[in-house]
Amino acid sequence: MASNSSGGSSDRQRIAKQRLRIIAGHLQRPADDDSAVGAAECTAQGSKTDASSEERTVPRRRHEIMKWNGWGYSDSKFVYNKKGQAEFTGKRYRLSGMIIPGLKDWMENTFGATLQHKTPATPILNSSAVQAPTLNEVFVEELKSTHIPFSHDAEDRVFRAHGHCLHEIFALREGKIGRVPDLVVWPSCHSDVEKIVELACKHNVCLIPYGGGTSVSSALECPPEETRSIVSLDTSQMNRILWIDEKNLTAHVEAGIVGQDLERLLNESGYCTGHEPDSMEFSSLGGWVATRASGMKKNIYGNIEDLVIHIKMVTPQGVIEKSCQCPRMSTGPDVHHFIMGSEGTLGVVTEVTLKIRPVPEYQKYGSVVFPNFEQGVACLREVAKQRCAPASIRLMDNEQFKFGHALKPQVSSIFTSFLDGLKKLYITKFKGFDPNRLCVATLLFEGDREKVLQHEKQVYTIAAKFGGLAAGEDNGQRGYMLTFVIAYLRDLGMDYYVIGESFETSVPWDRVLDICRNVKARIVRECKEKGVQFPPLSTCRVTQTYDAGACVYFYFAFNYRGLSDPIHVYEEVEHAAREEILANGGSLSHHHGAPTGSRLSQRARRVQARCSISWWTAGEVAAPGLVPQPHSLRRFGRRLRAKAPLRLGWPRPPAGAEAGVRTPSRVRSGAPVCTMGQEPPAPVAQSEGAGDGLLQPPAGPSSGNTHSLMSLIVC
Ligand SMILES: Cc1cc2nc3c(=O)[nH]c(=O)nc-3n(C[C@H](O)[C@H](O)[C@H](O)COP(=O)(O)OP(=O)(O)OC[C@H]3O[C@@H](n4cnc5c(N)ncnc54)[C@H](O)[C@@H]3O)c2cc1C
Repeated sequence: MASNSSGGSSDRQRIAKQRLRIIAGHLQRPADDDSAVGAAECTAQGSKTDASSEERTVPRRRHEIMKWNGWGYSDSKFVYNKKGQAEFTGKRYRLSGMIIPGLKDWMENTFGATLQHKTPATPILNSSAVQAPTLNEVFVEELKSTHIPFSHDAEDRVFRAHGHCLHEIFALREGKIGRVPDLVVWPSCHSDVEKIVELACKHNVCLIPYGGGTSVSSALECPPEETRSIVSLDTSQMNRILWIDEKNLTAHVEAGIVGQDLERLLNESGYCTGHEPDSMEFSSLGGWVATRASGMKKNIYGNIEDLVIHIKMVTPQGVIEKSCQCPRMSTGPDVHHFIMGSEGTLGVVTEVTLKIRPVPEYQKYGSVVFPNFEQGVACLREVAKQRCAPASIRLMDNEQFKFGHALKPQVSSIFTSFLDGLKKLYITKFKGFDPNRLCVATLLFEGDREKVLQHEKQVYTIAAKFGGLAAGEDNGQRGYMLTFVIAYLRDLGMDYYVIGESFETSVPWDRVLDICRNVKARIVRECKEKGVQFPPLSTCRVTQTYDAGACVYFYFAFNYRGLSDPIHVYEEVEHAAREEILANGGSLSHHHGAPTGSRLSQRARRVQARCSISWWTAGEVAAPGLVPQPHSLRRFGRRLRAKAPLRLGWPRPPAGAEAGVRTPSRVRSGAPVCTMGQEPPAPVAQSEGAGDGLLQPPAGPSSGNTHSLMSLIVC
């Protein structure tokens, strides 16, 4: 359904109030004039005004609103009601309170999962099953003196000991609690994080940054063999937009903000980032950076690496950030690319400057039915070739099409169900599409109304060349509406012996069909060989398109009745599927990060256990209190070269290069921080022509004598 974004006077008032509140926070000058933007409001009490925290989704005690052993809000779930019909509870989503008549049959027919065979989860967390915290007493004592809030409550700790991998949730449902963090700490701002990291280094404590907890790469798991105290650094209270720059269309935001809050707050000012991963309700900006996330509307807005202008990260060696907020630099490899995807192993991302766009004037959904998956893929390839992909275009295979159909809520109108029947008749009988082969693409167009309508025409014309039939806005919109509730379905499955997971890859266009066919077939074969007694669901969809290839998601699930160690079987099958992906020219991951059990993720975890220090050992980023030294970066370069049969040729430092390194006075005095080149912002007053009262960014670097970290790297 098409929608226009318009605002009445009450909207304007709300926006004005919001802006004033942010501005009021900013007018508090920091005690230390050298502090960067984020420190301006931080009181180091860990407190926020009630008004600002009220508006945020994630409370400190997450388990007050979210499930401790499943996905999402506690009040929202799929259940079978007394009549044995599936329904979705709560009031938060469009599907909430609705009956889904086809779901029960689909579960029975697809998995053999019946109401008689139930495997309910342990309802309440048994705190006595949680091991007592290993507290580092001196660390805790010094932490107290910072007034940063912390907790060693069992629920807080268990909540932060996992992400949403199948094995993590399965264990929790069974009441099995492994190694959990010993302490949870809630910094309010960048300078709180600096203090925590400094204390962790001083007292040999491990830190694991925690954003939204939606990780699907096991990155939040605590290594069971770790004997030191583990502290989960929960960024959820670092959730403010610090400034919006309307001239350059950028916003500077604290890294703990979750996607839904970021978009809502920006929307109130007329802007958006357009970054919408399926987990955006709960995942955080820092998490997106740390995992190199990708959103469904990346065709217009880009992936996180395209959106990021500036990252500020606290490492055990000091703070890393570039000296300016420029759109591009050519002075060496981009340090952002070391940070993005580092999964918390290099440090804690505290603030990020992102590109923003005006909220699109017009949105339109759409869908296309294709006679088969092959033609659907050919169409997506042509759309990518002509570079006319809508904000989102997703192609579901036949199994997912049927699944989507099973999730249709009960229709109240006979007319609607009659129309549905007619459409089906038209497609299958009149057009001759085979219901067991057809597949569907959902579309989302955004932008200026005229352009959207033209764009739509272009995409539907291409689709027609590949046998595609326009299947209406409603089907498209329903597809996107399901995006946020689909994650809740795994919990229902697990209530009835069904376990499942998704994993994704990126693959060149000429390998897409092979990879889809081969991986799905391998899953079926492996399940049979490993003794799975019911046919598995093995399905895929193409979710993102690029010039040179696409991202493909695989979903796989099975009924584990009769298996003694279902998770082991599951992981073996998944491992085989990933091998198949690699053998077919795909990547290990497109955006979920280093997957469970891979050597990469094992290394990440080992490294994380070393107090979030990285491959960049001491001196390679910077010694405490100093900016990075060219010689240590050269050493890093040599280390890389030693492993690669390449002749990289590390340039000599130009004469006087080091004179270009600005060392802030506070750093020279020995504080464990190295900020490079960024001037603290002046507080902003509302002035005519100054962006309609929005918070303004700090002035850019003041002179040409500041060097970015990357210019240091090539020196
Ligand atoms: C249902 C579901 C749907 C998903 N859909 C998508 C999708 O569409 N696109 C996509 O890209 N991913 C998706 N994911 C994966 C996940 O949401 C992303 O990896 C997300 O970016 C993680 O963010 P988070 O804030 O939840 O991070 P967390 O899960 O809290 O942490 C993930 C990793 O990042 C580190 N980290 C977190 N915050 C920081 C920080 N401030 N500084 C340094 N390190 C930090 C952690 O230590 C950990 O290693 C999905 C996951 C689920 C469960």
